[in-house]
Amino acid sequence: MHELSLAQSLIDQLFGLAKEHKADRITKVLVTLGPFSGVVRDSFEFGFDVLKKADPLMREAVLELETPDPVYLCLDCGKVSVIPFSRQGDLLDVHSFSPYPKKCPWCCLNRLSPKGGNELILNHVEME
Ligand SMILES: [Zn+2]
Repeated sequence: MHELSLAQSLIDQLFGLAKEHKADRITKVLVTLGPFSGVVRDSFEFGFDVLKKADPLMREAVLELETPDPVYLCLDCGKVSVIPFSRQGDLLDVHSFSPYPKKCPWCCLNRLSPKGGNELILNHVEME
């Protein structure tokens, strides 16, 4: 399970930070999950919740996930567009199974390339 091992490496990272700061417990964790990271949000949250219970340091940690809207670069006009998944319905080519919008909102051509968005970043940690 991909998400479980990602959650595990996040927890390892948090342990390191807690040690560094001589903290007794971690209360809140803010993670940015890129829209193209391929990480299933629910599985990741589930994995974190299961793993955190194994240690008192982490037991009460609240995980907050932030998923930025996907950004695309148009290979024809070079413009960059932010197109939320929820608004991609009308831009989708119904004859393909691609999860990506097929039309650039600027030039209406169809060579959009996902720009970045595959990150999993530990943004912020609160500890006591
Ligand atoms: Zn374009």
